[in-house]
Amino acid sequence: MQKIFEIEGSIEEYVEKGRKYQFPPPPFESCHNCKKMVRFGKHGFYDRYSILETFSGNVVCRRYICPLCNRTISYLPSFCLPGFTYGVKEIWRCLKEIILSYGTLKACLNKLNDIYVRLNISRQLAYHYKKRFMKNLILIQIVLRQMNSRIELPEENVSLRERAKKLVEIIRESPKAICSISQEFYALSNKTFLTLSN
Ligand SMILES: [Zn+2]
Repeated sequence: MQKIFEIEGSIEEYVEKGRKYQFPPPPFESCHNCKKMVRFGKHGFYDRYSILETFSGNVVCRRYICPLCNRTISYLPSFCLPGFTYGVKEIWRCLKEIILSYGTLKACLNKLNDIYVRLNISRQLAYHYKKRFMKNLILIQIVLRQMNSRIELPEENVSLRERAKKLVEIIRESPKAICSISQEFYALSNKTFLTLSN
C-alpha cells in the first residue's frame, strides 16, 4: 500500500537529505490488511526513479511495516505521482498546456519543452497523460466535490473537452499547490487524477 505525504521544505532539500530526511513518524492506525490497530514499525527505504524539472534520479521513499501481519506501507513524497516517473508539477504543467490550449499537441509540446528544457516530454507521453485525464473526468469531479462542497462543477450537458478545461481551471485557480491537491486527492480516493480506470 502507498500513502502520499507532504514534504516540509523544498524538493531540493528532500532529494539532498535522502535517507536523512525527517520522515513522518511511524503511523499508529488500523492496518490496511489485518485491520488491527497497530503502531507500524520503520522498515527501510526504497529508491524511486523520478524526473523533475530540477532533478532526475532516485528519490528516497520510506517504508513502514505492520508488526502483526508484516504488510508494508510506502510513503511517497507529494511531488511524486504513483505509477508515473515525471513529477506531479511537471505532469500538471503538461496537462494544463495541452487541455487549455487551442493549438496542436506538437505546438504545446514545443512550447513546454522550450520553457522546461530538461523535461523533454515526448508527444507519446503527453498524449498518454491527456488520455488518462480525459478518462478520469467523472472521478476528478467527484473528488473535487469531496474536497470542496461549494465548488461549481461543469454543467451536465457540456462536451468532454469543455468539461476537462473547466476542471483544469478549477484546479489551477485553487489556492493550494498542485502537490497538495494531488496528496489530498489520493488520501480521499486512493487514486490519482491519472489513475488507470476501467
Ligand atoms: Zn497488519
